[in-house]
Amino acid sequence: MKIFHKSHKRLTIIFIVLVVITATILTYLSISNIKNLRELTKKEVIDEEEKIIYDIAENFQQYINQIGENIIPGALIDIIEIKIRLKELEVDPFISQTFILDSVGNFIKPYFARINTNNRQSSNLFLKNYTLGERNEYQSLNYSSAERYYLASLSSSTNIIDSTKVFNALARVSLKKSDYEKSIKYYKVILDNYYEVVDDYGIPYVNYTIPQLLTISDPAYIIPIFNALHDMLILLLEDKIPMNTSTSGILKQIANWYLENEYVLDDNNKDYIDLIDQIEKQLSFIRSKGTYITEFIKSSNNSNQTLINGFSPLSINVDSINALLLVMKGNDNIYNIGFELATGSLIKKLIDDRLSQDAKFDYKVDYVLEEPVIKRANDDLTTYLRLSAFTPNQYLLIKMQDDKLISSYLLRLTGAYTIALLLLAFGLILGVILVVRDISRERKLSQLQTDFVSSISHELKTPLTSIHLFTESILLNRVKDNKTKKEYLNIILKETSRLMRLINNMLDFSKAEQGNLKLNFKETNISELVQSAIDELDQWIKDKGFIINKKIENDLLANVDPDSLLQAIFNLMSNAIRYSDKVKEIYIRVKKVENYIYIETEDKGIGIPEDEINLIFTKFYQIDDIKMITGKGSGLGLTVTKEIIEAHGGKIVVKSKVNAGSTFTIILDIAANK
Ligand code: ADP
Repeated sequence: MKIFHKSHKRLTIIFIVLVVITATILTYLSISNIKNLRELTKKEVIDEEEKIIYDIAENFQQYINQIGENIIPGALIDIIEIKIRLKELEVDPFISQTFILDSVGNFIKPYFARINTNNRQSSNLFLKNYTLGERNEYQSLNYSSAERYYLASLSSSTNIIDSTKVFNALARVSLKKSDYEKSIKYYKVILDNYYEVVDDYGIPYVNYTIPQLLTISDPAYIIPIFNALHDMLILLLEDKIPMNTSTSGILKQIANWYLENEYVLDDNNKDYIDLIDQIEKQLSFIRSKGTYITEFIKSSNNSNQTLINGFSPLSINVDSINALLLVMKGNDNIYNIGFELATGSLIKKLIDDRLSQDAKFDYKVDYVLEEPVIKRANDDLTTYLRLSAFTPNQYLLIKMQDDKLISSYLLRLTGAYTIALLLLAFGLILGVILVVRDISRERKLSQLQTDFVSSISHELKTPLTSIHLFTESILLNRVKDNKTKKEYLNIILKETSRLMRLINNMLDFSKAEQGNLKLNFKETNISELVQSAIDELDQWIKDKGFIINKKIENDLLANVDPDSLLQAIFNLMSNAIRYSDKVKEIYIRVKKVENYIYIETEDKGIGIPEDEINLIFTKFYQIDDIKMITGKGSGLGLTVTKEIIEAHGGKIVVKSKVNAGSTFTIILDIAANK
């Protein structure tokens, strides 16, 4: 027993020490964890931010790599083939402009006029007639003879430029003659056949004809003029009529004319404005980027540029211009081609695509055109990345959608930690309490068992000693008179039955412990059973000087196991005697109320402390430090009694008060056990 106690004590101490150490370590770790958590979360955010912008930059790079894949440098010789390929490229929503330049850097698409360097030879006859025409037109204001001279010069024209110039003069003169019909006819000739022809200043002749056409104010000619203008716009867009610095002014005049005459034209012709816008866009492309492209093409050394599918990136980033052009340089005698990428809208799409993917936090990404200044201090978790190697000063800037998110995230996490820790601590404390309680209960039980052994030995020894003593006296004929002899034999009988009851209790207890308490129910007269218990104790009661008050209703019948019920009643009665002190009165009552039989023993003895009433039915339990009439018992009597009564489907209740006495009541259900 002692070994058991010691090892248990040691285990408890080890357990408590382990719990305390674990809890301390956990608390320490959690506190330092929360401290580090802010830094860790910040790192996590920055890592995620970097991943996102790296992805966007990579997707941007990939996008560029993949476009233009079907343009093979070898195809750069055939202009028609090139135009077809570029048309295919234009389908891409992020390609805002495609372009072609000839080997010396002149724009073919969009078509931009260059200064005419061809030295043309005009015949003398042409020059003479044309000069006479001009003289008649401007000096004599004789338009008819001017027309004649111009027609004469036309037949002596030796080149296309001279011819175009004459058609323009003829149209002009007809206009002055108010012969609008003829004038429009001449202009149409230029638009249809000589649209590409430019004068010595690089200005296409159509640029002269259009403003003149627009001076016709006769409403009858609005439709033919409209058609002519429409043709011109289409030719400009199709890169047939070369654009020029004067084109923009002409487009404005056309737009104004259109607005003035809109009322005559039907709604279908609204595409005018659209056509003008498209041409304007091309013009502004040439204006803002033309020089850069030309210079880039002319520069021989750009080997440091990365090639993407044969295209070299050309990033223009000056003033308000920000563009990424990809140019494929043809060698001498072949064309240079390229396209402009609408970087802004492409990146916006790539950003949106990437941000729609799952991420731990919400971010916003900006595309900025200068290197951002970032202060890493405080909680500024902004990160940036250069968009690509060939887009200097273009950056992706990423930050959290909500700056306070980390703080609130940490707060939530800290809360969760705290709750978990508290729960853990609570659980550990509960565990310790339970273990300690369990151990003290075990210890108490083992103490009870030890006491049991000593008291049971005593209980056994006392009657055995008397039996031994009295039997010996009789056997050795020490007792002479019969009266004393009988008295001795009575004592022997009484002690033997006391022993039997004790042993019965122990046997019943051990059966009950093993769940083997088998009862033999039969209809029994409970009134008689109680009376027989009194009779059996009669001598003892009298010896101790007790007064018994009985109140037993007659012939109360119930189905019980008479032997064990007798044992139970007997236990209660003998307790009543043993735990009485000065007042030696015992009350025995048996009554029937409705379907129940009540068997009650009441004493006026020492009573049971209130906090122990529930414990007295526990096995081996005995109240400490009480005076007893006889020696200590076994601590099993009430345990066995309760087992027996409950096996009958009945109940046992106690009422007791210290120094006033105790009442034990067995309640049996008549209806049970039938
Ligand atoms: P024991 O053999 O010790 O009497 P029991 O199980 O019969 O064992 O009783 C358990 C304890 O309950 C007793 O030791 C005693 O302290 C208390 N007890 C039982 N009956 C009475 C009673 N009538 N009056 C006072 N105390 C009692």
